This record gives sequence, C-alpha cells and structure tokens, in this order.
Amino acid sequence: TQKKGFNMDTAIDVVRKTCAYTNHTILAEALEKWPVSYLEKVVPQLMPIIRELDARVRKDFHDERVYIIDQSDRVHMAHIDIHYGYAVNGVAALHTEILKQSELKPFYDLYPEKFNNKTNGITFRRWLMHCNPKLAEYLKELVGETYLEDASALEKLLDYKDDQEVLQNLRAIKKDAKKELKSYLLQTQGVEIDENSVFDIQIKRLHEYKRQQMNALYAIYKYKEIKKGKLPKRPLTMIFGAKAAPAYTIAKDIIHLILCLQELVEKDPQVNKYLKIVMVENYNVTKAEKLIPACDISEQISLASKEASGTGNMKFMLNGAVTLGTEDGANVEIHQLVGDDNIYIFGEKSKKVIELYDTSGYCSADIYNSDPMIEELVDFIISKELIRIGDPVNLGRLYKEIVSKDWFMTLLDLKDYIQKKEQVLEDYEDEKAWEQKMLVNIAKAGFFSSDRTIAEYNRDIWHL
Ligand SMILES: *Cc1c(COP(=O)(O)O)cnc(C)c1O
Repeated sequence: TQKKGFNMDTAIDVVRKTCAYTNHTILAEALEKWPVSYLEKVVPQLMPIIRELDARVRKDFHDERVYIIDQSDRVHMAHIDIHYGYAVNGVAALHTEILKQSELKPFYDLYPEKFNNKTNGITFRRWLMHCNPKLAEYLKELVGETYLEDASALEKLLDYKDDQEVLQNLRAIKKDAKKELKSYLLQTQGVEIDENSVFDIQIKRLHEYKRQQMNALYAIYKYKEIKKGKLPKRPLTMIFGAKAAPAYTIAKDIIHLILCLQELVEKDPQVNKYLKIVMVENYNVTKAEKLIPACDISEQISLASKEASGTGNMKFMLNGAVTLGTEDGANVEIHQLVGDDNIYIFGEKSKKVIELYDTSGYCSADIYNSDPMIEELVDFIISKELIRIGDPVNLGRLYKEIVSKDWFMTLLDLKDYIQKKEQVLEDYEDEKAWEQKMLVNIAKAGFFSSDRTIAEYNRDIWHL
C-alpha cells in the first residue's frame, strides 16, 4: 500500500514536522466526530490509515478519552491533529486556558509542550484604513504613520487624553460615521435613524451562545420602561445584524422576535421618539464596514467560556466604540488593556459557568419563577401585543426554549446585563469622560493587529 513510496513511519514523521492544530471553538457542534460506518462509505481509502493512527495511540496510552476511535465507533478529528501534529493552540488567552484545564485536559497532561496561545487579530488595512479613512488619517496626524507598520505605536494617543481639541475631533469623526450609516440605511433599507441617538450595535452570526435573545429582552425592558413614563435622556438606537444557519430553528425564532419588536416600537408613537430597533438585512463584511465606525456601544455578551476569541470586539474597539461585554474570549484581554474605567463588564465568569455545566446546576425555570421582573420580560415574548404582530409558533417556541431549557443561560446574566447597560447609557451623557473612553480604546487596540498575531505564529509555530 505504499502508492507514494512512503511507509507509515515516514508519513507520520512528515506530518509531525509539518502539521499544527489551531482550535477555533469548543462548541460541541463544531468538534467533528464521524461514525466509522459513514467514513467507510465516503472515504474508504482513509479508514486503514485512521485505524493505524488509532492503534498506535492505544498502544502508547491507556486512556479512552484520547483515543481517535471512541467506544461508539466515532472518529474524533481533532484527536488525530493533537496526537500527530507538533503544536496545539487556542485563539485567546482564556480560550487556551480552558483548552488546557478542561476541554483538552487529558491531551495537555500528555503533551504540555505542544500547547500555546495565539490571540486572534484583525487587519487594520480593512478595519481602520479602508472602513474609516477619516479616523485613520487623523491618527496618522497624531501619532505618526509608523502605527500602520507597528500598531503598538497607537499608544502614543494616550498623550492626548486631556487634550480637549483631540477629544472633540474624535467625537466629530464618530458623528460623521453615524451620519454616513444613517444615509446608507436610508438608501439600502428605507429606515431612518437619528444620528444624535446612542448607537448600540450587536452584529455577529446568530447563535444562542452569543445571546442576541438577551439583548432582545433588554429591548423589551426599555419598551416597558418608556411605556411607564421612564423616558431616557437621549434616544437609543439598537442595531442588530446576523445570519443564521438554515436549519437552526431557534436562531430564526430569535430573529423573528427582534423583527416583531422592531415593528412594535416603530408603530408606537409613545415609544418611537426614544427607541428604535433596526435589523440590518443580509449582514456581511460590506455591511460591517459601514456599521463598525458608527458604533458607540459594542455588544459582546456571549456566555462566558463559549466565545473562543471574537474579532468583532476588536474591530469596534479600534474604531472608538466602548465594549459592553462578559469576561469571555478576547474581551478578557481588552479589559486588561483598557482597565475597568474603559469597558463595561457584567455576568458570571467562565469558571462558574463551566461548573454549572459540570454539575447540571443551572435551571432557567428557577430564575424565571423566583424573579417577577424577569418573568414579566420573558412573558412579553408571548404577549398579545407581540402575537398580534408575529407568528405564535415562532414566539411560543422561543418562549418555551428560554423558560424550560435556555442551554446558554440567558436568564443567569439578564439582570446584571440590564443594570450595566443602564449604567453605560448614563455614563454616555458625560461627554468628556466618554470621549476619553473612546480614545483609550483606540490607543490600546494595537495589540489586536493581525500583524502581531502572524508574527507570533511565525515565531513560535511556523518558524519560516
Ligand atoms: C468580524 C466579523 C464576524 C465575527 O464577529 P464576532 O462578533 O467576533 O462573532 C462575523 N461576520 C462578519 C461579517 C464580520 O465582519
């Protein structure tokens, strides 16, 4: 069977010297496990190789958790990579720690030297120079053009933290971007937003772990507050953009809820002066390039431990938005870089969340039943006001999912989220303090340049 003149030992030797594994997520649905019976049908030529790779693992180690073919005759793809590659990395500091301490612990115990972290980055060519040329140009004026080759030079911006003129120019650039987004949305979707409102933006794939449903429950909270006469000092524009996998039923129910809320708020003259909800159609990179420069509040609210890194969080930061987020993925590193005063962190930490999964300790119904305010917000999903607008099947299914399952623990963090978001909106009214937060976020974003990420991969893994 040596068609290419390589025996198994030589082939494995080549792979050991050339292949390294990057883990991008620990969500079960993404860690591929294929039944042997299926592989026998579609890739029969690979099965003898896979069986040999598994046999060698079984000979060397006596721990079922690291076998390639498990007890149920499923092939674990990532296990092949970890045993036979020369490096394993996660994509943010917290994510790599979770790989080492829980998700891939049995492998870390076998091969501690293979594990390393490479925090993700974004290209400043697209996410600053191309999408926000005015800001890129102004930063060049302030810190010099070397920042385009060495992004850490952005830290020089900190020298201007008390410079009133610089702070006002940053605000003016943000205002221009908000006006540009306004005319773009008017042209493309016929919706009109108010550039003097706060732009609160959550754009990312639709997934329960990213918790767009928690943001929608905040919208319900705000709607009810306004109906009660608690009027916000400044109008709030909540912008969503998301794509859902075609077969992901609950994801589409969440989109349905957001669209119902959009219509409810729009048609209520008592509310629409203070609150606007926009679902950006067909979310993609081109739309992201328009939305990100215009953002005031960057929503990064995933359940702690579930977002491996996130990169949207970095794009927003670089463009002067302030993060409202959980201690998850690269938010942890953003928090460390900008400090407590320049980010809004809420919610349970990853350690607690992992413990809740391990002990089956989370029960959404308990929270729903013991907190009247949460009960009221969740019940609104199936209220007569919303059923009149939307489809009772979609709304009913989502309601039931949240009350009886809520796999990604929306209700665990809901109250803390609402309180923190109210705090953000209050702080937004202190103009100078907010401008300073914008400035610090931009100044500290240099770490997230993909140039730094690539240099680290090359230094520690590729050795090119
Ligand atoms: C950056 C980006 C993402 C990733 O966003 P996250 O908030 O990190 O999930 C997804 N889609 C598009 C179009 C993007 O530009």
